[in-house]
Amino acid sequence: MQTILIAEDEKDIRQLVSFNLERESFSTISSGDGKTALSLARSNIPDLIILDLMLPVMDGFEVFKELRLDSRTKDIPVIMLTAKAQLDDIIAGLEMGADDYLTKPFSPKELMLRVKALLKRVKTSTGSTIIESSQIRLDKNTLHCFIREEKIDLTPTEFKLLLILIEREGVPQNRNDLLREVWGYRETANSRTLDTHVKRLREKLGELSRCIETVRGVGYQYRNIIS
Ligand code: CA
Repeated sequence: MQTILIAEDEKDIRQLVSFNLERESFSTISSGDGKTALSLARSNIPDLIILDLMLPVMDGFEVFKELRLDSRTKDIPVIMLTAKAQLDDIIAGLEMGADDYLTKPFSPKELMLRVKALLKRVKTSTGSTIIESSQIRLDKNTLHCFIREEKIDLTPTEFKLLLILIEREGVPQNRNDLLREVWGYRETANSRTLDTHVKRLREKLGELSRCIETVRGVGYQYRNIIS
C-alpha cells in the first residue's frame, strides 16, 4: 500500500483529500502545519506529498526546501496546492522542482488523476530499457539519465517528459497531450507546469538543450542533433 502525506491546515480540505485517497486504497498521514509535516515526511518516507503552500509554523516553500536537502526525502514527488490568484507562487514552486500543482478550489477527482499519474512516473517500466539519442542515454528501469558518461540528475517527471520526446523524435508533441500523458491533466489547461519543466530540463541538458525545440502554436519536439 502506498502512503501519501497531506500537509494542509484547512481541516475540510485535509479530510476531503484524505477520504478520497483512502477510497482509492492509499494510506494517508496528515498534518496541519509545515513543521510537523516535515517530521512526518522524515519518519515515514511517504510515496508522495500533497503540500499546501500557505501553512502555519513553516510554510510550504520552506518544507519543500528542507525535503530536497535531505537525501531520504529529496526524491519524493510533490504536488503543491496554491490559491488561484498566486501565480508567482506557482512559478516559484515549479522552479524549485515541484512536480505539479493544483489551484484551490480543485476537484478531488482531478487530484486523484494527478496523484496516480505522478506515482506511475516513478514506477519502473518493462521491455527494452535503454534509449539513446544525441549522446543522451536513458535507462527506463533505473530512471537514470547520462550524457556521454556523465550522470544527469533528473526528477521522475523530467525523465518521463524527456523519454516521451525522445521516443517520438522529430514529431511535434502537442502541449495538451504532454500535460495529459505526463501529468494526467484531463482537459485543455493553460498550465505553467509544462514550460517550467522544459526550462529546467534544458538547463540540465546544457549544450544539448537545443535537442528540445519549441514548436510554436503546438508544443515541443525532440531533434537528434548529433546523428
Ligand atoms: Ca493553507
